[in-house]
Amino acid sequence: MKIILSIFDFISPRFCVSCNATLITHKYFICNECYSKISILQDHEIKSEFNRKFKKDNLVDDYSSLFLFEEKGPLQDLIHNLKYKQKFKIGILLGEKLGEGKKNIITNWNVDFIIPIPLFHLKKIERGYNQAMYIAKGLSKASQINVKTNIVKRVKNTLSQTKLSNDERKGNMLRAFRVKNSKSIKGKNIIVIDDVITTGTTVLELAKILKENGANKIFCLSIATPPFLHSIGSSNTKN
Ligand SMILES: [Zn+2]
Repeated sequence: MKIILSIFDFISPRFCVSCNATLITHKYFICNECYSKISILQDHEIKSEFNRKFKKDNLVDDYSSLFLFEEKGPLQDLIHNLKYKQKFKIGILLGEKLGEGKKNIITNWNVDFIIPIPLFHLKKIERGYNQAMYIAKGLSKASQINVKTNIVKRVKNTLSQTKLSNDERKGNMLRAFRVKNSKSIKGKNIIVIDDVITTGTTVLELAKILKENGANKIFCLSIATPPFLHSIGSSNTKN
């Protein structure tokens, strides 16, 4: 019965996932009022996030993100439903929004393909799916860029990143990924994508191994970025 209801919800969401209001249109999982409370990130905020997370390591060539991730806000409810309640369609819709919102940037990046940041296999079994894959699918639909899921594997489960210091996070992530198919990444420009990117440590580790295996440029996209002051220690999102 649960499965049948999930399939039904996939096709036809009935209530706002944030405030529970009945939805008039069935395409989105959130009502207009809740949607209007989600803040879009400004260019200067994205730039400062890039500088803070990625610039010094010189592994990630550019970064963009669509929304500000606010705790207890409607976007957190959307992402929670995507990650833990099998609302896969939310991932596809958010991925499409990201692709439409960042169309020019993505065109300039001249990308060959998209890699959703992989989950460790036991975690995938536990959850049943990788939410980043659905976001990647939506982005692919909007951008006409292919998604590849057979390139890299997550070989190490990582402790909850949020309880660790910055140095501990880096140690924790070390060699978390293994490239399965290095031939297909030589000289390529690749987008790596996830739902929320907090510290960027996971992305750096993935970018590092992709570049060690010959990738040309690595770009990173996320649906949301938490505000800097809240991003360490208090967020319950991973990485
Ligand atoms: Zn609502």
